[in-house]
Amino acid sequence: MPQPCPIHGTPHLDGYAVRTAGFLGGQVFDYVEAMRARFPHANAVSFGSCAARNAGTRKKVKYCAECRDALWAWCLEKRRSHEGALPFVDAVVAHLSATRGS
Ligand SMILES: [Zn+2]
Repeated sequence: MPQPCPIHGTPHLDGYAVRTAGFLGGQVFDYVEAMRARFPHANAVSFGSCAARNAGTRKKVKYCAECRDALWAWCLEKRRSHEGALPFVDAVVAHLSATRGS
C-alpha cells in the first residue's frame, strides 16, 4: 500500500494524471515549486518529453483528493494573477474538471 499523504494524512484514491509534452511555459516551474510545498500527491500531471506522442492521454495514478483541491486553488490563483495564455494551467484545469469525482 502507498503511504498516505504526508501533508493531509489522507489515503490515496485511484485516478488519472494527464500526460503533457513539450514546454508549457514558466508556470511549470511555479507548479513544481508549489507542488512540493502544497500538493505533493496531487499527481495530476505526468510530464513527457518534447516528442511524446501520447500527450493529452491519461495515466493511472494514486492521488490525494485534498492535494488536488490545493492544486485547483493554485490554478485559480494563477488565472487571477496572470493576463494572457496559460497553457499549462489550462491543461491542469481541464484535466481536473474532467476527472473530478472519478
Ligand atoms: Zn494531500
